[in-house]
Amino acid sequence: MISDKSPVRFHGALPEQVEVVIIGAGVIGVSTAWFLARHGVSVLICDKGRVAGEQSSRNWGWVRQQGRDGAELPIMIDSINHWEKISEELGEDVGFTRQGVMYLARHDSELEEFAKWLEIARPHQLDSRIIDAAEVDRLIGEKPGQWRGALITPSDGRAEPFTAVPAMARKLAEDGVTIRENCAVRMLDIEGGKVAGVITEHGRVKAPIVLCAGGAWSSQFVGNHDIRLPQLTVRATVARTEPVAELFSGNAAGGGLAFRRRQDGGYTLAPGGTNEHFLGADSFRFFREFLPVLMESRKNLKLRIGEDLWTRLFPERHWQANDVSPFERTRVLNPSPSAEAIELINARLARYLPSLGSVPLAESWAGMIDVTPDVVPVMDQVDAYPGLYLATGFSGHGFGFGPGAGEVMARMIMGQSAVHDLRRFRFSRFSDGSKMVPGPGL
Ligand SMILES: Cc1cc2nc3c(=O)[nH]c(=O)nc-3n(C[C@H](O)[C@H](O)[C@H](O)COP(=O)(O)OP(=O)(O)OC[C@H]3O[C@@H](n4cnc5c(N)ncnc54)[C@H](O)[C@@H]3O)c2cc1C
Repeated sequence: MISDKSPVRFHGALPEQVEVVIIGAGVIGVSTAWFLARHGVSVLICDKGRVAGEQSSRNWGWVRQQGRDGAELPIMIDSINHWEKISEELGEDVGFTRQGVMYLARHDSELEEFAKWLEIARPHQLDSRIIDAAEVDRLIGEKPGQWRGALITPSDGRAEPFTAVPAMARKLAEDGVTIRENCAVRMLDIEGGKVAGVITEHGRVKAPIVLCAGGAWSSQFVGNHDIRLPQLTVRATVARTEPVAELFSGNAAGGGLAFRRRQDGGYTLAPGGTNEHFLGADSFRFFREFLPVLMESRKNLKLRIGEDLWTRLFPERHWQANDVSPFERTRVLNPSPSAEAIELINARLARYLPSLGSVPLAESWAGMIDVTPDVVPVMDQVDAYPGLYLATGFSGHGFGFGPGAGEVMARMIMGQSAVHDLRRFRFSRFSDGSKMVPGPGL
């Protein structure tokens, strides 16, 4: 996990002018730069903190096609193929491996839900299938007889998030992309109603195109320009064990526990049903849009008051170029892990994977996931400000999707025709009266 204690590694001098400024050096910003750079487009990436300091180094590392929304699936299939190529091009091992993703079922009703998703997957000829209890027991060598079966996609994979995105950034920097950490973009520079560049804490950079890939901060960033982007955050807690003998080589979730083998020989673990939303002014402002997903995820989401309630009730909405912006005040969003979530991990390990239960947890951490009302991202341009693009709201599954989304955004920015149907990801869905239909909750 990367935090504001991690050394600053990208010190690129701010250019006077570039073709594209990218706000945010998470997997989405870095992947978009990856595809722009190979077409010779000049790019500056600014991050207020560290490359991959927020969600992009804190996630589970799953690169999965399984369980995806139907509109995301073709992009995700490209994405996992890009992961394969990127990890080869990097020339360093970022832990990308196709060890499969498996959703375990304890009840027949879960298997029925999995079978519904197979209908979404069918046109794409994935290797996803439902396996029986005996096959699950062969794959997980522990406590046979506790699972009814599983949905499995053997071609799915994982990469190590805390090494993968920084490695991509290093390669980009070697290839001439300017990356600057500790450099908050305070606001857009607008001339004649169009994007003319950005104003950073270290000065102005001219650019006709700006991509906001600011993760959990995107709504506040564009809100300063009176653009309404419904987006909320949820805290998710993760832990890892010390290295231990392998009992399962893949990535799996079931019974409220997610676990996957790590490159360092440990396991990354997370509890299901413990995502927490901390109430604030935006919870009420975006309540109408989020109501359908709130109803659907009510069993898995906990509403909290928590600390810093005042800041959340009265967030900064507007500031000017000379003001210190909210982005400089929080270099890296580093929420503390939830003690309740850690207890749940331990209890579920004891129940489902007792031999792992005796291995000490080496570390725990949390990340703030940015979510949209229909749990799929926005990948679009903003009509109100020609030259402004958005790639945000990846709703807890943007790591695996990152390279695919990066290619989509690079093509859009370069004015090339889209390879996939992007209507589901249009920004106007939040303002044109569209019904919010959340993607599959698998
Ligand atoms: C615990 C957890 C588990 C997850 N598990 C998975 C998983 O297994 N598989 C999967 O596919 N996805 C997973 N996700 C989701 C995935 O991590 C995110 O969807 C993805 O990383 C989002 O990438 P991003 O680039 O949009 O945002 P981020 O990685 O959050 O990056 C945004 C960056 O923008 C910067 N920024 C914001 N505003 C400004 C500004 N004004 N100026 C300069 N910089 C700015 C921030 O500092 C930040 O570094 C998980 C997430 C979490 C938290």
